Amino acid sequence: MTDLHTHAEDIVAQFSDHLDLDVDDVEERLDNLVNEYRVPVDEARRSVVNSYLDEADLDRDALGGGGGNAAVGLAEIDEDEQWIDVTAKVVELWEARSDSVAQVGLLGDETGTTKFVAFETSDLPELADGAVYRLENLVTDEYQGNFSVKLNRTTTITEVDEEIEVGDDAETVEGALVDIQSGSGLIKRCPEDDCTRVLQNGRCSEHGDVEGEFDLRIKGVLDDGDAVHEVIFDREATEALTGMTLDEAKDMAMDALDTTVVAEEMRADTLGRYYRVSGPQFGRYVLVDDFERLSDPIDAEAALIEARSI
Ligand SMILES: [Zn+2]
Repeated sequence: MTDLHTHAEDIVAQFSDHLDLDVDDVEERLDNLVNEYRVPVDEARRSVVNSYLDEADLDRDALGGGGGNAAVGLAEIDEDEQWIDVTAKVVELWEARSDSVAQVGLLGDETGTTKFVAFETSDLPELADGAVYRLENLVTDEYQGNFSVKLNRTTTITEVDEEIEVGDDAETVEGALVDIQSGSGLIKRCPEDDCTRVLQNGRCSEHGDVEGEFDLRIKGVLDDGDAVHEVIFDREATEALTGMTLDEAKDMAMDALDTTVVAEEMRADTLGRYYRVSGPQFGRYVLVDDFERLSDPIDAEAALIEARSI
């Protein structure tokens, strides 16, 4: 019964600011549900926690977990440098682009997903792809309207035996591509650890003059007739949209001795066409995960004439 005992200890810790619970009592209540009534452990735990919430006259949110920080949905983070606790699933692990990063990827909870970063210096246990963890003492981070969470030296990581239905926070917008904004095409990013800011005339706003790394991006505007939507295609999406690879873009710029020819070529290929895109909303942008080219909207009058003729 070590398992139930651990759950009981967790619950006692969770309520330590509100109720003076006895581990053995809590374990007995869990044991009763699990072994007497054959209730699954997760459900038993939820039921016991709920009864203590009632007893303490608390909302689940007020509990904020054992870390004592705000319990914020991952997709609802809207503050920089906020300390939070979450229970989240490791949805994706990405390749770390710098030696100082131990792990980088995507965490998900019921509200949606957000990027996480763990640094080598924090010396934390590794998160496993697909596993669910209780993570306490995370710090939120904001960059250009994009929020992420950082694990740090004080972060506690506890694997939990529960399944999370990760919420879908993707937005879908469509319309004619009416503008490709400056900062699109062949760009250079800052190579500093965890920076990736886009360079302006070879300068990073944080790190000054640096040797940039080439990347492709399109910051576009879709107009659906009622509203405009700002969207960002990353390198992969830009290559798929334009059919131009990063290497081809570099060659083109090299031949012309000018990087702006790339965005010009992309404009010529895509402006005025109709697209439907979907992806997470960050700040005022939809970051394009998926897109499809739509046939141009049906000319209403022509459709009417055709309908009458049937
Ligand atoms: Zn930089």
